[in-house]
Amino acid sequence: MTEENLMETVFCPICGPEAKFTVRYPAKFREDDLAFVARKTPTHTHFRVVRCKGCGLIYSTPRISQEKILRLYAQSQFISEPQLQNMLRDYLGEIEKIVPRTTSGNFLEVGCSNGFLLKEVQARYPSLNVFGVEPGEQAVRAADDAIRNRIRTTELKEGLFPESFFDFICFFQVFDHITEPNRFLQMVRHYLKPAGLVLAIHHNIHSFLPTVLGSRASTYDISHMFLWDKSTMRKILEKHGFRVVSIKDMANSYQLDHVIRMLPLPATLKAPLRNLLQRLHLAEHNIRACVENMVIVAAK
Ligand SMILES: [Zn+2]
Repeated sequence: MTEENLMETVFCPICGPEAKFTVRYPAKFREDDLAFVARKTPTHTHFRVVRCKGCGLIYSTPRISQEKILRLYAQSQFISEPQLQNMLRDYLGEIEKIVPRTTSGNFLEVGCSNGFLLKEVQARYPSLNVFGVEPGEQAVRAADDAIRNRIRTTELKEGLFPESFFDFICFFQVFDHITEPNRFLQMVRHYLKPAGLVLAIHHNIHSFLPTVLGSRASTYDISHMFLWDKSTMRKILEKHGFRVVSIKDMANSYQLDHVIRMLPLPATLKAPLRNLLQRLHLAEHNIRACVENMVIVAAK
């Protein structure tokens, strides 16, 4: 099958097929170089990026087929990295703002990888019942025994849990990757109890880094289907009947080595810089900056 046959047209999930768009960046990728994994060194590749004239949403169209994308995720390599410790701390901090310490009830993380966060949530909240959903088979195999049986190895879909089962549903660095955001939010709403809370963290396309670096920012990525900002997040959540509690820019901690790895520098410059950081014992030094992410809380 040719690449042509595999491409499919995507419409704005907020405005629908009638909405017009303008092209922001032409496609930049090779068919043999489709890296679909949440965390990796940026490849600076993307499908054609457009901006909806109706709502301002920035998204990829055309793209490879949904089936192929799901297959690539199922087969994706699990990558563990030191930066995971920073993510763990930052995400737990946001969870603690909305989940009272003595809460009992059911907690779901969609796209939980090897369950590194779920494990910590379970330790801090012994009365919570934690569950995860993760399509990456290798990541789930890498989970600790105690948490693996809480994880369903699949994407979020019907029949995984009872309706209105969860008090909290979280997804971290996941929503950018979702191929059908309307369907995804329908499922989240289906599984959430009335007055249950959604907590999401992902890139804000109008944050500092993508604004300054343009398509060289890691936000523009072949695996990011839709590039949300505060306004489009509010619109899609309200379309599905959620009440937006808050949408804020979020500061994150980054190891200096990670910063160098993610920046759009030539490899010939990156390697000596990373070596220098190692020699100065600064590679694992953390800096804190509000440069790319937003944190969203919404209620059913
Ligand atoms: Zn739109």
